[in-house]
Amino acid sequence: MGRRPKGGGDRICPVCGLPYSTIERKKHGDRVYLYAVHIVKLPDGSRKRIRHYIGPENPRVSKLYSARAAVKKIENVIDFLGYAKLDDVFIDLLLEKAEKLVSILRVIKATRSIQN
Ligand SMILES: [Zn+2]
Repeated sequence: MGRRPKGGGDRICPVCGLPYSTIERKKHGDRVYLYAVHIVKLPDGSRKRIRHYIGPENPRVSKLYSARAAVKKIENVIDFLGYAKLDDVFIDLLLEKAEKLVSILRVIKATRSIQN
């Protein structure tokens, strides 16, 4: 494929595709939710924090089953690409989804390494 994620670096927000400054963890009841935080400069020189919701830190679903199911689904897509005839629109859509997947996985991994 040879395509690299645009924007450079690993700190790319999976929601908007722009680099983020930090990850915030917000506790709500017994769950922790992750937000990518963008710091935006306003015309008057002040700074505003914009948060994009990424997802729960530890989804409640059975991790083993869902992780295996997710890998299997991705493998199915890869197999499909072996024989499918794809037009540019579909290729762009798949690239967008694949890049989002990579961004989310990097955020999860980065958050893990902060906790450990
Ligand atoms: Zn964002």
